[in-house]
Amino acid sequence: MHTQFPTQPSYRGQREQFIEASTAAGATLTEYPHPLKGPFGESLSTDVAVLGDPGAKRLLVALSGTHGVEGFYGSGCQIKWLQDLSRRSLPADVAVVMIHSINPWGMAWLRRVNEDNLDLNRNHLNFDGPLPDNQAYDSLHEVYACPVLQGPERDRADALLDEQIRQHGWSAVMSIVEGGQHRHADGLFYGGSAPSWSNRTLHRIMQEHLSHADVAMCFDLHTGAGEYGHPMLLTITESAYQALPDAQAIYGPWLYTLHTGAGAVSETGVAATATGYTSQALINSLPQVRLMPFVIECGTYPGPDVHRYLRDDHWLHLYGNPSDAMGRDIKLNLLEQFYPADSDWQAMVWLRTWQIWERALAALPTL
Ligand SMILES: [Zn+2]
Repeated sequence: MHTQFPTQPSYRGQREQFIEASTAAGATLTEYPHPLKGPFGESLSTDVAVLGDPGAKRLLVALSGTHGVEGFYGSGCQIKWLQDLSRRSLPADVAVVMIHSINPWGMAWLRRVNEDNLDLNRNHLNFDGPLPDNQAYDSLHEVYACPVLQGPERDRADALLDEQIRQHGWSAVMSIVEGGQHRHADGLFYGGSAPSWSNRTLHRIMQEHLSHADVAMCFDLHTGAGEYGHPMLLTITESAYQALPDAQAIYGPWLYTLHTGAGAVSETGVAATATGYTSQALINSLPQVRLMPFVIECGTYPGPDVHRYLRDDHWLHLYGNPSDAMGRDIKLNLLEQFYPADSDWQAMVWLRTWQIWERALAALPTL
């Protein structure tokens, strides 16, 4: 079947480069195959590379692709740093664990969400207990379930959203929408009703590669919130954790500490009201490890632009065809929102990420 799905950059290309760089650096690779295929029929998996002694007690962990399409930034930095580290030796008792594309379906299909339309950063919850109940989203849901991209019905959906923004302000409306919801599987920022494949796979990876450690500095790599070309270093958890003072001492004013939950606010563009973050899952699942969960969030375009293209992509997977000409346009627009083609943007985010990782590598032997 003829497909017009964009070919550059691609999940497959990034994966090949990641495996090549890992092998050249002498890293140990483990593959976690995903049950579905990409847009070209390609196999999907999460790949883990461990550089250095796999039994080392001090770990630097870099995780890419939690939000699929944002993985091009994370994967690119992982590959570049592996190439750099292949020419050096790591400090004693320190290993680098690279988790490549934890949401491989989303990265391959150029989506922020996973194969179940689910936001992984709203999915790390205890599904045996009551789930967060974001009732305010219900009245906005029809904006996101609109079955057409153009015409009177779409105009009405736009008018409803505009009216909410006029009454309450952009930030207040987005804190409802981005806060996550568990009632509408066809809605935006859906958190799911059970642990996703990526959630379960991350827990396997934690047990197999991280659980023996004494100390771990973990970096979850994102794009799409904040100022253009400006990476923010954050630590995002529901409350203070044991190693937070260490994290704050290592990074000083570089680090923005964000505690999430109902009523929380933030000027970072990151959703403070949301729960179910990967960072919290790392803390909860590895209580024996002195773990510091960080997020690097690289700003791209203004929030309303990012939101508009997310809406279009949401429509595409509910009602359209990602492989036709209109699908191609929507995909290329979304990709630009989360991975600008601008080489200056790409250079800036890599330089800052490299600086942050080098500081972590220098700090780990002292912890
Ligand atoms: Zn993200």
